[in-house]
Amino acid sequence: MEAARAGIRQAVLTAFCAALQDTRLPPLTLIELAAQAVGSVYREVADAHCGDQPCPCGWRPRLAADLAALQAALALSAGPAAPPDLARMAVLGRA
Ligand SMILES: [Zn+2]
Repeated sequence: MEAARAGIRQAVLTAFCAALQDTRLPPLTLIELAAQAVGSVYREVADAHCGDQPCPCGWRPRLAADLAALQAALALSAGPAAPPDLARMAVLGRA
């Protein structure tokens, strides 16, 4: 999962930087476009899991719950970084 997270993040970041350079649109506008892309990918994947011949993997979209999960993921990753947990930090040296 970490590799997938890093790969998708890098793809979005690369597309964001290219669009920023090419369009000079405000950064938040481009991030909104990225969010729209995520929403439209969700819709496409959800559609492939509904109807007469849904994908056989077994996942079934639940729009309200899925949107809540997506919004929570966005809020969690956009918020300020959590302060480091001192109890878990490795001791690097001694005074
Ligand atoms: Zn599937």
